[in-house]
Amino acid sequence: MVVSVHQLDDGAWLSVNDSREVPVSQLWLLARHGFCGCELADFLAEGFVEVGVDWPDIEARIAGQCVKCGASSVTDWLTVGRVNRENGDFRSVVPSSVHVPERRTRLATPE
Ligand SMILES: [Zn+2]
Repeated sequence: MVVSVHQLDDGAWLSVNDSREVPVSQLWLLARHGFCGCELADFLAEGFVEVGVDWPDIEARIAGQCVKCGASSVTDWLTVGRVNRENGDFRSVVPSSVHVPERRTRLATPE
């Protein structure tokens, strides 16, 4: 199954299969992150920087700031939604539940 993922409008939207699915300006709760010094960061998303597919997860790195401490940066890869294996439907995650950004270490491992 082919999934096309893009960011649109200078990072204001993440589109999956040509449908605008995930907007920025949402508050994400981040745990075990390297984003700032807060144990739980209240991260206000301001723009999608990179988007990718780690089948069946749709992932993105998002620029924004922690509204608790004011730190401003770009997150590691966050799972923003998931594609249904059966019918290809996209379902976004709930940003206000706790999310753990991940570095893609496996891609950096030499063969
Ligand atoms: Zn913070």
